[in-house]
Amino acid sequence: MCASSSEKDLYAVLGASPSESTEELRHRYQQLVLQCHPDRLSGRGSSEADVGLKRFLEVDAAWKILSDGNTRRDYDLHRRAHDLKQDWPVDSTVFLDNMAWNNDECLYTHCCRCGGAFIINEEEVQEETQRSTSQEEVETPGGQSRGVIVCCDTCSLSVYVTWTTLPQR
Ligand SMILES: [Zn+2]
Repeated sequence: MCASSSEKDLYAVLGASPSESTEELRHRYQQLVLQCHPDRLSGRGSSEADVGLKRFLEVDAAWKILSDGNTRRDYDLHRRAHDLKQDWPVDSTVFLDNMAWNNDECLYTHCCRCGGAFIINEEEVQEETQRSTSQEEVETPGGQSRGVIVCCDTCSLSVYVTWTTLPQR
């Protein structure tokens, strides 16, 4: 089984970085489409047209996902979790909403399979939520996804805890 094609970084396909706004991505998309649109390559050799068409479909598919705030957010979450997994032995992704809230100590807990617990306090969540994002990032209607790696207090496992920030006014 070859999984390489499905794991392509959509931002890399557009030659963009994840912090770019939808408008910037649109601009890149339009530039790329101009370069590799099938109509433009119709007069060339068939292998060149094939490569161009492949590239065009790839660019078009990436843009379809990244141009929509909701699908982009889902993709960003998936991508970030995937990236982090390569550096840390992340066991799974946990949504902050699904963690148990400890009102006495103002922290969220989640049971680890070893019997220990993943713990993140409210302060850490606030800090990450308020961390300013690069440039003049456009807020998507659903807010932005944030997340941190939390280690088990007993074993070496860690989970990626994620949540969505509300759009700032
Ligand atoms: Zn554990």
